[in-house]
Amino acid sequence: MTLKRVDEQYRGLTYTWGRLDHPEETPFQVAPGVWWLRFTMPGPLNHINLWLLEDGDGWTIVDTCLNLETAKAQWESLFDGFMGGKPVKRVICTHMHPDHIGLAGWLCERFACDLYMTQAEFLTGSLIMGYTGEQAPPAAISFYHRAGFSAGQLDHYRDRFGGFGQFTTPLPHNYQRLTDRQTLAIGGRYWQIVVGEGHSPEHACLYCPALQLVIAGDQILPRITPNVSVFPTQPDGNPLEAWLASSTRLLSMLPEDLLVLPAHQAPFTGVRVRLNQIIDSHRLALAKLYDLLMEPKILPDCFSCLFGREIQDGELQMATGETVAHLNYLWHRGNISRRLTDDGRYEYQADPDARYIDAE
Ligand SMILES: [Zn+2]
Repeated sequence: MTLKRVDEQYRGLTYTWGRLDHPEETPFQVAPGVWWLRFTMPGPLNHINLWLLEDGDGWTIVDTCLNLETAKAQWESLFDGFMGGKPVKRVICTHMHPDHIGLAGWLCERFACDLYMTQAEFLTGSLIMGYTGEQAPPAAISFYHRAGFSAGQLDHYRDRFGGFGQFTTPLPHNYQRLTDRQTLAIGGRYWQIVVGEGHSPEHACLYCPALQLVIAGDQILPRITPNVSVFPTQPDGNPLEAWLASSTRLLSMLPEDLLVLPAHQAPFTGVRVRLNQIIDSHRLALAKLYDLLMEPKILPDCFSCLFGREIQDGELQMATGETVAHLNYLWHRGNISRRLTDDGRYEYQADPDARYIDAE
């Protein structure tokens, strides 16, 4: 089925088929040989967009959804129905988050096909799956204690630790490595891998110049700013620097009239407008945070400045990771310093002589 084109304008972007998410669970053709699948998921994201690419006598799948019975059933009905019994020739995952790789192992096993991922995504996904059933390590507890978690919040973290594997089938033991600027022939067309960092270690986007579109995964989303977080495995990491550099690079590479196929929400054009909005929102947040830290603060005192609201327990870990990302960015640049308080929390303070400048 082909969707009706409406070109809805909203906040500088044009939503080709409207701003509402894909309305039903029917594949829609967004370009020759490129089909949009919407899979429902629990939680605030509510759904994920997956992409089915015609590939000669079979299919290439991009991203897979969580390991849910409902998602497996949706795939089953596609195999027998829309996909016409033709085989899946390969599974490509943009990155290792569970909504993207959840059913990759299941699909690859079923069709005896290869998984295509970048190296850092494959290895990081494998590492985190290996934590399933393990206790939270002391380094992780120390990281969240320093970030201001209360004893109760640390207990909650311990209880939830190792839950990643719950929503993912095991990854295959081997894979085909994707690298930046590598090209793939899919359905007789040329596709180029474009790697971005910051949301996940080595996120692959798939750019098809002939079709003027990019499968963007979570690297470019239209209305949510993708999460950029520091995790306990690399407590002094600086993913926001990598994120801003990647966004700037994408800005220089991707043409404005490109159709963006995001993993959440709806396809749109206006990629350069959107990348600039995302870059600007982080730069503004960094400037506000620097000003706030003229008085020393521990991490939870920065939430209202960054998020403009109270943080609920269910979002605490993500909000903390994102706040550490902004603080580490300023700390690495020497705009702020940090010290451990007597009760073992990091306290951050701006250096008035090292003002954060809101531009590169
Ligand atoms: Zn993601």
